[in-house]
Amino acid sequence: MADTDIADRTTRSFRTAISPAQWKQWNLWTQRPGLIAYCLLIETAAVVTTAIAAGTAHVGGWDLLVFGILGGFGLLQAELGREVERLRLMAGTPHINLTSVWSFAGVLVLPSVLVTGLVAILYLYLALRRPYRLRRGAPFRVVFNAALVVVTCQATAAVLSQTAAPRLDAALHSGWAGSGSLALATVTYFVIAALITIPGLSAPDRSLRTLFGGWGDNLLEVATLCLGILTALAVTTMVELALCVLPPLLVIHRAVLVKQLEIAATTDEKTGLFNTTGWHALATRELDRAERTADASFGVLMVDLDRFKRINDQHGHLSGDAVLRAVATAITGAVRDYGSVGRFGGEEFVVLVPDARPAEVRVAAERVRVAVARLAVEVPAASGRKTIDGLSASIGIATYPDSGSGIDSLVHAADQALYRAKNTGRNKVVSIADLG
Ligand code: GH3
Ligand code: MG
Ligand code: MG
Repeated sequence: MADTDIADRTTRSFRTAISPAQWKQWNLWTQRPGLIAYCLLIETAAVVTTAIAAGTAHVGGWDLLVFGILGGFGLLQAELGREVERLRLMAGTPHINLTSVWSFAGVLVLPSVLVTGLVAILYLYLALRRPYRLRRGAPFRVVFNAALVVVTCQATAAVLSQTAAPRLDAALHSGWAGSGSLALATVTYFVIAALITIPGLSAPDRSLRTLFGGWGDNLLEVATLCLGILTALAVTTMVELALCVLPPLLVIHRAVLVKQLEIAATTDEKTGLFNTTGWHALATRELDRAERTADASFGVLMVDLDRFKRINDQHGHLSGDAVLRAVATAITGAVRDYGSVGRFGGEEFVVLVPDARPAEVRVAAERVRVAVARLAVEVPAASGRKTIDGLSASIGIATYPDSGSGIDSLVHAADQALYRAKNTGRNKVVSIADLG
C-alpha cells in the first residue's frame, strides 16, 4: 500500500537535470567541475549539430510557415499556461516542461535546423516571461536546458533521416514503414532525453528511479510526445486542427500542478521524506488495514540523532542540513522494501514498519541505527571538502497492537522509549515493551 505513495513522491524533482534547490543558487562557475564540463559539452554539441544541419538544409517557404505556426502555438501555450506557472512558482514545485510537444512536432515536419530555432524561441520566451525575482542566474539555466532539448532533437532527426520516412509527409505515404519510422523517432527522442539528463543529476542516491524518474514523469513525457505526433499530423494535413492540441495540453499542465501541490503538501522539503501530515496519512492507512486484518501487527520507530547540536556548532548549519539529508537517505535505505520514513522536523525522524512482528520491527530499528553509525558525509569546507562521521542515533520502538491502538498513542509510546534510550547512553534501540 505504501508503494504508490513512495513512487509518486520521488517523481518530484529529479528529471530536471539539476535539482530545484541547486537551481536557486545556480551560477555556472560555482557548480562542481564535472557539471560545468557537461554543460559546456552539451552546449557545444547543440551548436555543432545545428551547424551540420544548417549545412545540408533546404528550407522552403512552406517550412517557414510551419515553423511560424508551431512557434506561435508554443508561445500561445506558454502564455495561456502562465496562471498555472504562477501558482507553481508560488508553491516552489519543479517546472512542468511540455515544450516537447512543439519540438518533437518540429522534428517530424521541419528541416532540423529550424527545430533549433523553435527551441530557442520557446526557451527564450519562457525565460523572459519569468517573474523578475526568479530571474537571477537564469541565462545559464535556460541555455543548458535548451541545449539538452536541441541535442535530443538533432539526434532524433539524424536517426529519422536514415529511415524509410525521414519526415511525416513521407510517413503518411509509406504504410507500415512510415509508422515504424514514427515509432522509432518517438522511442529515440524519449531515450535520448532520458539519457543525456543523467550526467547532470546531483542525486546522491543513483537508483533507477532517481535516474529515470517515476511512472508519472515518464507517462507525462510519452503524453507530450504523442501530442507532438498529433500536432505534426495536423500541421501536414489540416493546419487549423493543430489548435485542438492546445486544450488537452493546458489541462495536462493544470493536472500535473494539482499532483505536484498534493505531493508538496505531504513532503518535507529539506529531505524529500514525508512531512508530519504525509506520514500521518500513511500511518493511518496502515492502521485501517491492520484493524481489518486478524492478528495484524506493525511498528513505529522514533529516531533522534545524538548530540546533533554539536554538528551544527562545529561544522555550521549548512553542513548540518547535508547530514540530515544523508541520514534521510540512510534510513530509507535501511528499511527500503517495507518502510515509510517521515521527518517530524528538526533531526527527528519517524519510520513506519508495516506488517511486521515486534521482533522484525526491532531488527529494522537496529538496521537503521547501524546505517546512521556507518555514515560518512562529505561536506564543503574552506579547504576543499571534509568528512563528517561518528554519527549516532537513538531509536524508540512501539508496536501495534501491544503498545497502542491509535497512531498518536503509538507515536507517544515510541517517543517515551526514545527518551529512555537517550537517558541510558544514546546510540541504542529501546522498545516501549522493555520499559515494563
Ligand atoms: P540529543 O538529541 O542527543 O539529546 O542532543 P541534540 O543535540 O541532538 O539535541 P536536540 O535533539 O534537542 O537538538 C536538536 C538540534 O538539532 C537543535 C538544532 O541545532 C538542530 N536542528 C534542528 N533542526 C535542524 C535543521 O533543520 N537543520 C540543522 N542543521 N539543524 C537542525
Ligand atoms: Mg537529537
Ligand atoms: Mg531532537
